[in-house]
Parts: sequence; C-alpha cells; structure tokens
Amino acid sequence: MLTAKAYGVEKQGSNFKPMNIERREVLDNDVMIDILYCGICHSDVHQVRNDWGGSSYPIVPGHEIVGKITNVGRNAGEFKIGDYVGVGCMVDSCGKCQACSEGFEQQCEKETVWTYNSVDPHTKSMTLGGYSDKITVDKRFVIRIDSDDNLAGMAPILCAGVTTYSPLKKFGAGPGKHVAVAGLGGLGHMAVKLAKAMGSDVTVFTTSPEKANDAKKLGADKVLVYKNKDDIRKSGLSFNIIIDTIPADHDINALISTLKPNGAVVLVGLPERSTRYSLSPSILMDSNRSLAGSNIGGIPETQEVVDFCVKHNIRSEIELIKFPYLDEAYKRIMKNDVRYRFVIDNSSL
Ligand code: NAP
Ligand code: ZN
Repeated sequence: MLTAKAYGVEKQGSNFKPMNIERREVLDNDVMIDILYCGICHSDVHQVRNDWGGSSYPIVPGHEIVGKITNVGRNAGEFKIGDYVGVGCMVDSCGKCQACSEGFEQQCEKETVWTYNSVDPHTKSMTLGGYSDKITVDKRFVIRIDSDDNLAGMAPILCAGVTTYSPLKKFGAGPGKHVAVAGLGGLGHMAVKLAKAMGSDVTVFTTSPEKANDAKKLGADKVLVYKNKDDIRKSGLSFNIIIDTIPADHDINALISTLKPNGAVVLVGLPERSTRYSLSPSILMDSNRSLAGSNIGGIPETQEVVDFCVKHNIRSEIELIKFPYLDEAYKRIMKNDVRYRFVIDNSSL
C-alpha cells in the first residue's frame, strides 16, 4: 500500500481535517493518478452529513477528479504516464452483468463500487475519494481527457456534466425541443450549457433573482425567477424535458404541470432520505407525461460527455479553492452561495 495525503471527516458532525490514507499499489489493470483538481458536488455534502444514511466514516469525499497519470499496470492498455485523465463517481463494478456490458456500470447487478464510501473489492477497505493527492483506479473507470485547456473547469464534467448530459440525451434534447432546468447550481448550470450546445431552447427556473443575468450568459433563452409553486404554474411556459436538480423538498406537481404532452420531468436532485414528494396522478395522465429519475451516467457516456465538452469548448464555471477551505465551502454550498462549482486545487495539499 502507498500513503497518500487527504482531507476527510472522522465522524458525523465533525469538521474536515488532514489525514494520511492508504492507496493500493498499481495492479495489472490499474493506473495511478496524481490528482490536480477535484470538484465539490452537493452529493459530497449530503454524504458527509449522512443525509442519505449509510455514510461510513472516516469519509474522504470527491468524485469529480482530474489528474495526471504517474504509473500504469502492465495491462493498462491505452493509458500512459503523463496522460490527463478523469475519474467520476465510480471506480469499479463486476464488468460482466448485463448492465455493465451495456455500459451502465452505475446499475451493476453485483455491486457498483463508488469512488468513496464503498468497499474496494481488491483491498476490502473503504474507498476514499478525490480530496487527496493521488488515487489508484482500474483502467475501465478512467476517462481520457484529450485537452489540457482549463482542466479545473473540466473536473465537474465528471459528475455534474454526465448526470445532466445522460437524461438530456435519453429524453431527446436537441433542436426544436424546449428544456427547462430547475435549480441553477453545479448540475443546473452544466445542464444549461449542455442542452444549449445540443441545440435546445433552454429555460431556467431559479429561486435566486441575482442569478438571472448569469443564466442568460450561460446560454438560457428564458429565465423564470420564482418564489413558490404558483409562479411556476402561472408562467404559461411549457417544456418537453425538465431537469430537476433541486436538492431539497419542493412541489414537483408544479413542474409537471408545465410539461407539454408526452414531456418528462427527470429528477436528478436527491434530497435527504426522509423526503417524500406528493404526486397528483391526473397531472401525469392527462397529457401522457412522465416522471423519471436518473443516476449519473455509465462510463461510455462519461467519456462521451467529456469528448463533447472538449469539442464544444464547454467547461464548468468554477471558484477555485485551496485546502483547508472545505468547511467554509460546505457552509456556502448550503447557503446557495457558489457560482457555480467549487473546485479544489489539489496541489495545495
Ligand atoms: P447545488 O450546486 O447546491 O445546486 C442546487 C441548486 O438548487 C441551487 O443552486 C438552487 O438553485 C436550487 N435550490 C437549492 N435549495 C433549494 C430549495 N430548497 N428549493 C428550491 N431550489 C433550491 O447542488 P448540485 O451539486 O447541483 O446537486 C444538486 C442535487 O443533485 C443534490 O441533491 C445532489 O446530491 C444531486 N446529485 C444527483 C446526481 C445523480 O446522479 N442523480 C449526481 C450528482 C448530484 P437556484 O438558486 O437557481 O434556485
Ligand atoms: Zn456528484
């Protein structure tokens, strides 16, 4: 095992502190990565706070990783020392079941191994994420980045990017399609950029009047600043697809009521475990509307969105921070005070 430096949380309710952690030595199929940047996803905040249950401590979060390869196993294939690569939310899966063979490793029938808070099948210890200086990852879960331009802005594509790209593609975003994005945060601002680059007409639903100008700059055609569900219902707007990134309880019927016939609301925001949404069946049935959910994206789709972003010169809007700013950053995320993603400069470790 190798010792790595990291920041993590020892137990629920504690602050971040520096810690030494272990990474496995490269196995035949592995690459070792020096982490350059790591985004802070709201899912990191949920898991550090144990909002979803099942968090295991000590926890080292971080699943929006960009780095440079420093070592490769003998079967690491296309990957070479010095390559820029990314790692998202997963680091392993069985690789054999139907979901894995179709490129949906996040639905592995045996077990998806998440980048943190999972059991590493090789070492049987808990996986630890990207708030660290290095990580060893199986090559199947390593994403090529064919650009060295704004790598810090590339990091959030590994989660926020693929999580919004996947449902946009699945539900047919593109020319002639009206897409709404509810919540202009880390996921939401990527959804706006991606939906626009796919050729859709894009509307943002935001609770923050001060974000209206930004939404337009990010590419939105329309912005609805709303206070409550009535503002949404009365807006007169209608959509083919709504990407709902809101990380807290809210009225989903109001969003569904703005769907065109056959349209879909896709939930990607995941509030704390006790949250229950109420649903009016007639709102769905009357116009053959759908309510769907979407969990990140598989590895082929993660590679696809990274390539799409390189091709269309799309990056996340970020605030670059250094260690040990994490507790402050988490407080600011909870206060909705980030434009639009914190990314850690891991060289500050
Ligand atoms: P974020 O950066 O904090 O953005 C969330 C946005 O939602 C905020 O900027 C705010 O936008 C809006 N919002 C926040 N609280 C709200 C409330 N009480 N009512 C209405 N709107 C509210 O978070 P994120 O990183 O984008 O993540 C969003 C959610 O997606 C989290 O729950 C996260 O765990 C989840 N997630 C899911 C997946 C997946 O695979 N499905 C992947 C990654 C993250 P406005 O100021 O514009 O209103
Ligand atoms: Zn995430």
